[in-house]
Amino acid sequence: MGGRLKKSSDPEVCGWPGLIESLARICEECPVDRKILLVASHHAGQLILQSLARRSGGWLNLRAATPAELAWEAVAADASAKGLAAADDITIEGIVIEAYQATRRSFFPDQPPLGLLAAIQRTLLEIRNAGITPEQLRASPVIQAEKARELAAILKHYTAALRRDSLLDDTDLYRLAAGKSSPQTILLLPSSLKATGLCRQFIKSYAAGRVVTLAEDPVEGVALPAACISKTEDTAATALSFIFVPAQNKRSVPPIEIFAAAGARNEIREVFRRIVERRIPFEEVELAVPDYATYSALLEDVEAEIGGIRLTFGSGLPGLRSGPARTLFSFAEWLSNDLPEPVLRALFAGGGIRPPDEVTGRQAARLLRSAQIGWGRERYVDRLEARCRDIEERLQEEEDDEKRDYLEAQKLQAEKMAAHVRDILSLLPGEGGASCFSAAAEFLNAYSVVRSESEGAVLKRLLNRLCSGARQASQPGTLRDACLRLQAIAQSVTVDASAPAPGHIHVVPLTAGGLSCRQHVFILGLSEAAFPGTLANDPILTDEERQSLGADLTVSAEVMRERAFRFGQALSRVRGNLYLSYSTTGLSAGARVFPSPLLLQAHRLASGNHLAGYEDLAKALGVPSGFIPERLALGADEWWLSQIGVKGLLRDAQESVLGAYPDLKSGRSAISAREEAAAGEHDGKLARDPDFDLRKSRRPVSATALEGYAACPRSFLFSHLLGIELPEDVALEPGRWLDPLERGRLLHEFYRRFLSRLKAAKQRRDPAKHVQLADTLLDEVIAEWRKLVPPPSEAVFEAERTVLHRSLGVFLREEDHVPAPGPGVPEYFEISFGMKDDPGGSSPEPVEVALPGGRSVLLRGRIDRIDRLAQPGAWAVWDYKTGKAKDFKAAKYTAGGSQLQHVLYACAAEQILCRLGEKNAKVVVSGYLFPTERSDGNVCVPRDARRRGEGLAVVNDLLDAMASGIFLATGDGCRYCNWAAACSADEAERWKLLTAAGDESAAAMEKIYEQD
Ligand code: SF4
Repeated sequence: MGGRLKKSSDPEVCGWPGLIESLARICEECPVDRKILLVASHHAGQLILQSLARRSGGWLNLRAATPAELAWEAVAADASAKGLAAADDITIEGIVIEAYQATRRSFFPDQPPLGLLAAIQRTLLEIRNAGITPEQLRASPVIQAEKARELAAILKHYTAALRRDSLLDDTDLYRLAAGKSSPQTILLLPSSLKATGLCRQFIKSYAAGRVVTLAEDPVEGVALPAACISKTEDTAATALSFIFVPAQNKRSVPPIEIFAAAGARNEIREVFRRIVERRIPFEEVELAVPDYATYSALLEDVEAEIGGIRLTFGSGLPGLRSGPARTLFSFAEWLSNDLPEPVLRALFAGGGIRPPDEVTGRQAARLLRSAQIGWGRERYVDRLEARCRDIEERLQEEEDDEKRDYLEAQKLQAEKMAAHVRDILSLLPGEGGASCFSAAAEFLNAYSVVRSESEGAVLKRLLNRLCSGARQASQPGTLRDACLRLQAIAQSVTVDASAPAPGHIHVVPLTAGGLSCRQHVFILGLSEAAFPGTLANDPILTDEERQSLGADLTVSAEVMRERAFRFGQALSRVRGNLYLSYSTTGLSAGARVFPSPLLLQAHRLASGNHLAGYEDLAKALGVPSGFIPERLALGADEWWLSQIGVKGLLRDAQESVLGAYPDLKSGRSAISAREEAAAGEHDGKLARDPDFDLRKSRRPVSATALEGYAACPRSFLFSHLLGIELPEDVALEPGRWLDPLERGRLLHEFYRRFLSRLKAAKQRRDPAKHVQLADTLLDEVIAEWRKLVPPPSEAVFEAERTVLHRSLGVFLREEDHVPAPGPGVPEYFEISFGMKDDPGGSSPEPVEVALPGGRSVLLRGRIDRIDRLAQPGAWAVWDYKTGKAKDFKAAKYTAGGSQLQHVLYACAAEQILCRLGEKNAKVVVSGYLFPTERSDGNVCVPRDARRRGEGLAVVNDLLDAMASGIFLATGDGCRYCNWAAACSADEAERWKLLTAAGDESAAAMEKIYEQD
């Protein structure tokens, strides 16, 4: 994209930035002398030298360096002879933490947040650079005594630690280098270069008088910041030097365009649109952005969306754009949250880490998910090995060769995965944050996937930084803090930094704006927040305290002045066309954003109306560019919007869009169909199908499924006819261990064990005598569940354990509440039938239940308990409920089809008892027991077995409704339903409308619901 390249407009036509001109002059005057240009950063130096080459055709004996690099070169030989090394920022951070922890504190907190440590580090380094000693700090009459004493102590310890470790920070470096000189070298200093007092002393001595200050474009109306080297007056060459004082400008104003867009993405698209529309060669465009981290990432995103735009990023892209940095970030998240399985799974699935040999990342992710790990170090290998055993068991039973091959492969993968994860876990640090850095380095080194040279470079930088951190004796006390530092390291690196390249738009931070000398300079993101922005005061030393310590410490007013100067300087360097823009809405939540006053100043300068106000600016900005392109459409999404947009509004283009996307069309038809008054297939009224009639299909059904059908036929359709299953994840809920279903299963297992034990001992339940046994057995079952489902914390586990134990008192007195003829001797427990997936089940065959009218249905299920009653051949069937009893009213029998279990299990129990050799078994009572605290005491709900015929008639009616294709949504119980995402929020309302409209399917169900 970008069209035919037009002939470049050479900046020579309108001149070069003052810095390039003055540099060119000195190179002409001293062509062969050794010259060093001091610069603020590598990137700035690279841009300046490239522009100089374009301006002069080349140079001799000139290179760029930062002052710190030059100082290190000057002392390198001495330093290495003395065994001294430069301390990087991670090392300095570690030493500051050590110094903080070694200081007795009353002013600063014991558990400092990392932000406070970072602020202390910044202030300490500033204090050291300004040459202020611990004694001076303590002697300050302005600084609060405790604060001064503790800061002085931290400073003293910090300095001592540097000595101890033979390390040099910048202050030491400049002090050591202060006596060094290189008289043959000319030092070239841009007039706005910042330097501390120590740095200036070094520069002065190094060049032994051969220092040349390079004039730069001035920023009229703003004094040069105090930290800048030069005190010389530079002369303005362009009108843009007068951005802050437009009324003083006497020069002709270069082309300036100002525009706004709704959102940063649209702002970027508008920039690209102007470039493409005007056929501006990409290599003539520079994009300068104040918020570089945010905009560089967005620029890359929009570039990828549109395609064809090519960008280079002078200061690179945020580190998290590269695989190894993302892997480190996720590793820290995994570590700090007790190893949640989904985080590791995402690392495998996304290709962030290496899976075992011959297992793909996706297979590894699936294995982790199926192992139901949840979280916690001790569960990974246990659960993966359990998974291997599961597969092995299935393998033993499987006879089909194809399935056996599949299971063999699964087993091999699971075994490899268990070994692989064991290796990963062996790298993890112990408690606290002590060895997090080395663990992270080993993890990255061993498992991080590197896909390109640039990712390789990022990995190397990350490993270097992690090793620096690992060398420090002191680490943040908590694992969480250590992990936050790891994440900060992942974010601190940059990736793919590049010099300007032919055929590419070059993106730079605002501080380097104009240095590439490109003809078209766009400055984006000029909101009020970017400039002037807000000023956060230093949290460690106030302005007054800083002033009391000496002139070299920066105060708030100076920070603001410097910010204004840097913005003005970027503009004053522009020699071609200038484009200024901002986004009218914030990056999050669409909050309204105001333009920077700089835009108003630019408008005053461009329009010549020096009294123009914000209303004039708003007129000049016009309508912000939005999502619907008024002009050239970039990319497929804009093309669609341009086809259906008219003056910023979208026409109804449903027909065209639906014509292009048939799946959307059928979805749309379904929505329309659901709006009809009568039920149709999209509501769940399906055409009659023999497969729907369970009496014909002979597919076994459970009592719970039939009750579910009565509550909401659509949920039955999803779960039982279509057989859809939700993926099972063990998700961490900070305040809960077991969900109601799991708690119920745990208690059922306890009831089974306890009653079986009593039966074996031929004892009747006695609360006083059996409380100890109950406690022991319950703890046994709880311990088994703990292995299956890890608790989020010990506190939550203990709280839930206590509640479970409290329910024992209710359970042990259960029999006192069973009315006649119910009390009997518990004889059979957890009797399952027709449960193919229950290998330990009592009877794999389903039970055939005869229905009114001569038909029958096959039933599957599990009966909790069958009691032998005193009367020969009489039995009671009980189902344990661990929830609330409020829906189980004594006066009800089937509760509109929602309570059928007692009917069906009574029928089933008689056949099963017969299978078990019990002669003439007759169930005379069946019902529900609620032996937990949740039911507010012991509740027993017996149902009269003599009414069984009524219940079976309801079952028959439900099966009739099902056979006729009724799978409507009633909206009853949506809150606890797995299918909520597939239904509308107003299903209950729609059901009411259907019944009110006299829909025959709804009426059929309502008839069932009317029965008690
Ligand atoms: S969400 Fe509601 S309407 Fe949908 S299936 Fe579940 S219970 Fe029925």
